[in-house]
Amino acid sequence: MSPAAATDRRIRSLRPPKPVVDPWKAHGCIVEAERRPGGLIEQAATIFLAGAECSFTCSFCDLWRYTIDGPTPRGALPRQIETSLASLERGSVQRVKLYNASNFFDRRAVPPEDLPRIAELCAPFSGVTVESHAKTVGPSAMEFARRLPGRLEVAMGLETIHPSAGALLNKRLDVGEFDRAMHVLDANGIDARVFVLLGAPGIPSSETVEWTVRSVDRAAERGAAIVSIIPVRGGNGEMERLASLGQFTPPTLRQLERALDRAIGRSTTAVTVDLWDIERLAACGTCRDRRVARLQRMNLSGAAEPSVVCDECESE
Ligand code: SF4
Ligand SMILES: [Zn+2]
Repeated sequence: MSPAAATDRRIRSLRPPKPVVDPWKAHGCIVEAERRPGGLIEQAATIFLAGAECSFTCSFCDLWRYTIDGPTPRGALPRQIETSLASLERGSVQRVKLYNASNFFDRRAVPPEDLPRIAELCAPFSGVTVESHAKTVGPSAMEFARRLPGRLEVAMGLETIHPSAGALLNKRLDVGEFDRAMHVLDANGIDARVFVLLGAPGIPSSETVEWTVRSVDRAAERGAAIVSIIPVRGGNGEMERLASLGQFTPPTLRQLERALDRAIGRSTTAVTVDLWDIERLAACGTCRDRRVARLQRMNLSGAAEPSVVCDECESE
């Protein structure tokens, strides 16, 4: 077995059991206001689709929980999208985000025969966002973009530009490949939404904010429309193994605030923080809610705000 295959096998073997997932039923659909570059606020519907697992095995990823064993059945994604969109008020949403917990341009995850119908279902929206590993950005993305009356956006992880942390991420992506994908998207009139990690394994906790900000800057320089900072969360087994070796320290709410405070407003890119599962980040019980509320406001406004002052944790 190759070292790469052995690493994938170890990461998979440490995972807790996966819930049973029905490929004909989306996990959910939420509508949120989002800021675009230039300050425009859009209503965006995110549909959490059920389907095949991603073929990559990133160490920090927990999206496999939402996937099935084997390929996505033909017709399942159009059914999930149709049902989810039926619950939305007509005309109330400008963007649809099809998050399939995998790579949209992987034939196992999204059967090519379903793409025309998916594009048809997305026709009412001015923006359509799908997820992809940078390595799978190519002709399929261009073809799907041509099918859409609206504009395609591809969401992909840069994660970090730290020179040695990449190996512990097991993402098999170097910065040059990310740059290539960004160039392909830009040359084809496709927007890029980029995910950057806070608390990536292999980066000392004292340096993690700095590397997050540098990685955000890199994505912005390459033309990202939006950068979302994602705090790494444990719970998938591999992160606990890395923590026991001193190679992963869960990031805190204060670090997330510092990262946004430093990264916001440095370019035309809309920089936001991911507040999903935010209650899992360590924080002071007295000021946590005020800090989260501040981040929510900054996500929407794109403007810096004074820090929260708290007598309990004596931080500001
Ligand atoms: S490429 Fe994305 S979906 Fe696939 S394992 Fe990595 S983080 Fe998870
Ligand atoms: Zn406090």
